[in-house]
Amino acid sequence: MIYFDHAATTPICAEAFEAMQPYLREAYGNPSSLHHLGKQAKFAVETAREQVAALINARPAEIVFNSGATEGNNHALKGVAERLAERGRHIITTQIEHDAVLHPCRALEHAGFEVTYVGVDEQGIVRLDELKAALRADTILVSVMHANNEMGTLQPVTQIGALCRERNILFHCDACQTVGHIPVDVKALNVDLLSMSGHKFYGAKGAGALYIRRGVRLDTLVEGGPQQKGRRAGTENVPAIVSMGVAATVAMTAIANGEEAHVARLRERLIEGLETYCAGVFLNGHREQRVPGIANFSFDGVEGEGLILELAARAGVCCSTGSACAAGSLDPSPVLLAIGRPVGLARAGTRFSLGRDNTEGEIDAVIKLLPEIIESLRQLSPETRAATIHQAAAPEAANV
Ligand SMILES: *Cc1c(COP(=O)(O)O)cnc(C)c1O
Repeated sequence: MIYFDHAATTPICAEAFEAMQPYLREAYGNPSSLHHLGKQAKFAVETAREQVAALINARPAEIVFNSGATEGNNHALKGVAERLAERGRHIITTQIEHDAVLHPCRALEHAGFEVTYVGVDEQGIVRLDELKAALRADTILVSVMHANNEMGTLQPVTQIGALCRERNILFHCDACQTVGHIPVDVKALNVDLLSMSGHKFYGAKGAGALYIRRGVRLDTLVEGGPQQKGRRAGTENVPAIVSMGVAATVAMTAIANGEEAHVARLRERLIEGLETYCAGVFLNGHREQRVPGIANFSFDGVEGEGLILELAARAGVCCSTGSACAAGSLDPSPVLLAIGRPVGLARAGTRFSLGRDNTEGEIDAVIKLLPEIIESLRQLSPETRAATIHQAAAPEAANV
């Protein structure tokens, strides 16, 4: 098995796994309880809050734990919209956001808000001039991701944050693909709200956090008890939160030790190898301005889904299209369409997302295997390829 799908989720690291164990069994207290078991759980959650805050240069009180970035994005968008609806009803985002931003935006449109979806250039970078021109007196929120999950392209978040600050507009950033992989400093980025997810940086699934800059007011998404100062009700997922805190500390060390630089070198080796040995290959997204782990290619005349299934079947390689569309649908990727790829190439996108445990040997195995798989897929008729994909992907597609 070769795991090249770290942008979808990472394996939990040993330290995070060890640390969460006691909170699943003996240390099962509710952080809101007053007795010693409760205090123990409370202490664990507050320690994790400090660890996560340190990772992004925030104060612990600015960290609100939740179930993940989908919830964080919903909280940021809907919470600001509800709080500031009197002041304005215009929101700006981009065409290449994750569905966890795009779908809440659609919901807000149905609720009477207006949303502008700013485009990107051929490299996948948000058009700053277009974004600047879209800012209005009634704009209450701008939401732009730090790195795109499909291509890995880094966005000019610091500049966008500065534009928003000058105009007193709140700025939210979905930083799922950067937190824990490159230095993320909420002060330097000029953000007011920032979403992250533990399972994208070697923590357990089910815990994420929303950074809410001190003084920023937004409505709560999940209402109920008084947990987390009323900003997110519900008993905290203590084991997953503990694992996220430890994963944050491990990530800081990993970044400092050059482990993410190792990931970037593997990515470069993959890009160079595929561009050398595969005919008709196109790298999607900016060549340099990208996170360490992600490389996305379109192979002319080959659907991404077919290639992924073939790679899995023949060599146990796990990668994905990176596109949010349902498995087996054969829809072109909206992100690749946004960078101007024609429909054929937008359907061909294949994302390899690498992690700290990957090796040069694994990269070389894929470089060796891919040219042959691509040639064999190109020789099949489009109808045969589509039928194979539908057949193989249908059972899972029902569950996504
Ligand atoms: C994974 C991801 C999400 C969703 O995160 P969950 O914690 O799985 O809800 C949102 N945005 C981006 C950019 C992502 O990569």
